[in-house]
Amino acid sequence: MTRAAIPFNRPYMTGRELACIGEAHASGHLAGDGMFTQRCHAWLERRLGSARALLTHSCTAALEMAALLLDIGPGDEVIMPSFTFVSTANAFVLRGAVPLFVDIRSDTLNIDENLVEAAISPRTRAIVVVHYAGIPCAMDALIAIARRHGVAVIEDAAQGLLARHADASLGAIGDLGALSFHETKNVISGEGGALLVNDPQLVERAEIIREKGTNRTQFHRGMVDKYTWVGLGSSYLPSELVAAFLWAQLEEADAITARRIAIWQRYHHELAPLEQDGIVRRPLTPPGVTTNGHLYYLLLPSADARAALITALAAEGIQAVFHYVPLHSSPFGRQHARAHGSFAVTDRVAATILRLPLWLGIEPHQPRVIDAVLRHVRAIGGRFATSS
Ligand SMILES: *Cc1c(COP(=O)(O)O)cnc(C)c1O
Repeated sequence: MTRAAIPFNRPYMTGRELACIGEAHASGHLAGDGMFTQRCHAWLERRLGSARALLTHSCTAALEMAALLLDIGPGDEVIMPSFTFVSTANAFVLRGAVPLFVDIRSDTLNIDENLVEAAISPRTRAIVVVHYAGIPCAMDALIAIARRHGVAVIEDAAQGLLARHADASLGAIGDLGALSFHETKNVISGEGGALLVNDPQLVERAEIIREKGTNRTQFHRGMVDKYTWVGLGSSYLPSELVAAFLWAQLEEADAITARRIAIWQRYHHELAPLEQDGIVRRPLTPPGVTTNGHLYYLLLPSADARAALITALAAEGIQAVFHYVPLHSSPFGRQHARAHGSFAVTDRVAATILRLPLWLGIEPHQPRVIDAVLRHVRAIGGRFATSS
């Protein structure tokens, strides 16, 4: 029996991308900050409620801008989860700062807000929260802690576009937010990202940092009569060709998100019996929260059970994958970051999490994934001890 392989991810195209790129090409404006970039900025500002959105090459670049913008430097500490992508920490190590890792919550897999205050020291400059799987962190508590200690809140909202926490959009809640449009995210431009500058006082310097340390953005607005080098910066702006691709995607962002949520909910509904029987744990969406269907995962009883399931699914052509070597146990993290407290939850989640394929177009194949997961998890659940 030959059946088409089901990859973990397949980038979705709306069909409008090439037309938009053609428009940018015809306009003759290929460098950054042309018409398509302005459209993307305006869309992000309006939809997410941010004072200023600035397209970047990646979420990584947006996080690096955040570190520059907050003048984070040698000796400073930045609190963050260890269960995250390397860029969350690297952006600050690049400035000479030390990431201070704390454990995550076992229900949302986000930074455990109850561990943050004890990790704060006079050196702490910021808390970087990561909205894993597009499920929001406990922002009310985290913002309150940050305000109490006069430190900034940066949201790594790489996975969080259009997910909401109460009335606010992820990325637009902290002082700064970083989005990703990498091809594995919900809305894509190949590589791409944006910095959301939610504190209006930081907008002018953010524009300078993004334009190689010059006041060129103000110059184009007619606010200064020549542009010159006024501060630290680099080139963080994508070309119009990338912005044109992204615009074609943003125009359909709501429809894309709705389809992803439907796929997510189908997994959640049909895999519920496995949780009821105590074999797996499914994602938890706290009350008052709207997710964006970014990723669907299961927590297996053990690392061995996960390995067995990955192998069994692969034998049926279904690609399911784990996530993150925790940064506190990575070779570079051990040298350049500090671990605060126990990482019992992080270590257990990293060893047992399995992400299922979720992409637009998987709908007709999804029953095959669900059927295979149900069969193999039941077989494996009998072979491996279940966790509480
Ligand atoms: C994808 C991702 C990033 C990096 O995004 P890029 O746009 O590839 O730089 C950073 N943090 C998290 C949590 C991510 O999921």
